[in-house]
Parts: sequence; C-alpha cells; structure tokens
Amino acid sequence: MIVIESVAAMQSMSESLRRQGKKISFVPTMGYFHEGHLALMREAKKMADCLVISIYVNPTQFGPKEDLSKYPRNFERDYKMAQNVGVDVILYPPDKEMYPENYQTYVLVEKTTQNLCGLSRPSHFRGVTTVCSKLFNIVKPHYAVFGKKDYQQYVTIKRMVADLNMDLEIIGLPTVREADGLAMSSRNVYLQENERSSALKLVESLKLAQRMYDQGERKSSMIIKETTNLIKSALDTEIDYIKICDGSTLVDIENITAEAVMALAVKVGTTRLIDNHVFGETF
Ligand code: AMP
Repeated sequence: MIVIESVAAMQSMSESLRRQGKKISFVPTMGYFHEGHLALMREAKKMADCLVISIYVNPTQFGPKEDLSKYPRNFERDYKMAQNVGVDVILYPPDKEMYPENYQTYVLVEKTTQNLCGLSRPSHFRGVTTVCSKLFNIVKPHYAVFGKKDYQQYVTIKRMVADLNMDLEIIGLPTVREADGLAMSSRNVYLQENERSSALKLVESLKLAQRMYDQGERKSSMIIKETTNLIKSALDTEIDYIKICDGSTLVDIENITAEAVMALAVKVGTTRLIDNHVFGETF
C-alpha cells in the first residue's frame, strides 16, 4: 500500500494503470474509519485491479458554524485499517493541493440538493460535488463506491455523473449498523454515554415507519407524526427534519408509492445524526 499526497503523482499512476488495461475502484472518505467505510472498501476491492481510497476532510462542504476543525482524525489508525482490507493506494492530499490559491470553480447539482440536509446546510452539497468531481479527475476511477447512509449525497453524485457525462460508474451500498442498530458514523464518537439511547431513536423511528407501512399506512403525514412523537420522547433530541421523499428526486411526497425513502436528521446533544430507510428494504 502506498500513500500519495500529490495530485500529479496520483494522476500519472492512474494514467499508467489505465494504459495497462487495469481497472481502478475508488472510495472517497473523510477518514476516521469504522466498519461502514471498510465494507465499502471490501466491495470496491472485488471490482478492480487497483483500489484507491482518499482521506480528505473537505473544507468546502462544512458551513461556517460546523465542525470542520474538530472533525475526528487519526491517520495512523486509518492507515492500518486500510492496509488490513487490502487498499492499494491512499490518496491523502493536503489542502493546498486540492484548493490552491485563486481556486474559484464549483459544481452544483440544483434540485436533489434543495431538500433534506440542503435546507439546513445550504452550501454542503456544493462542496461535496465539487470535491468528488476533483477526486474523480485525479483518481480516474472506473468505479466509485458510496454508502447509502448518506442517501442524499449518493443520489446527488449519481445525478452529477449522469448530467456531466463523467465516465465512471457510481455504486451505492447499504448502511452498516452497530449491533444495537445505530448507523455507524465517524461522528458517533461525539456521543456521550447517556445520549446513546436517544441516538437509537433514529433507527427505532425508521423501524416504526416500516411497521406502519407494513400495516397498510401510506400517508406520509401519519408516519411523520408518529415518528416525531417517538423522537421527541427521548432526552436531548432536536429534530432538524423527518421527511418522506421520492427516492430519486428527493421531493417530498404525500402518499407513499414505490421507491420512497424516509430520511431524518436529529441533533442528539450537540451531535447531528442522519439516517434513512427505503420502504420495503430490510434493516
Ligand atoms: P465519510 O468519511 O463520512 O465522508 O464517508 C465516506 C463514505 O462512507 C461515504 O460514501 C459514506 O456514505 C460511507 N459511509 C459512512 N457511514 C457509513 C455506514 N454506516 N454504512 C455504509 N457506508 C457508510
């Protein structure tokens, strides 16, 4: 496994692999790995001759009042974990490689970024699509693997790749959960012990929604009402949103039809958590 910090070195390695007819798979991350990241890497490993991952805490996707400076980082630990799953290359660029002086270009997907997290994080997805476009141009992968834990991100990246005719395939993989059901996230380290049971209300409310659906409920408002009550009943929770949307446009829907997704963002103490569930899928 090698670590590459320079954009030019990564591009020339990828170019050389492509000339030899080798396939490249790619998992972009912000590091501080957990089993969710490793699951993406294991799948990506199977798809190609060379697995590249990136570790980059991208400043342009954090708002001015968000947790950029305290986002958890531990390169040594991530390095060992990546080595154990058979990663070939870690792209670990410094900020000056990604956003040199006079940087001024951004990529914006207009519609899928409006709802859900886009409501309270207005510049977030512009940062995500910009950094992913740059990373795709740097790594030149045939396949890029994303987690559906960040469902809006996955849908938005797929939209961008289709709209801009980017020559790679986006693969989405299911959310990896802790034994108790909590969706794995690098931000879970911020949770105090007494906040854990409140954090579990996210997955419990998705399960409640699925049960109501199984019993024939199709009105979004009814499901949202019950799940809101469930989350409000837990200590230290502040709901950012609970919504039911069309799974590909992410527009709110009143009546649940095929491919609907329920998505929620809740602050537990000071930690903002997100989770989602596509109706009919298993947990
Ligand atoms: P991050 O480091 O949080 O930017 O995440 C990097 C990638 O890992 C993204 O594609 C995420 O959607 C994915 N990911 C994060 N948490 C999970 C999880 N619990 N299950 C599956 N994928 C995940």
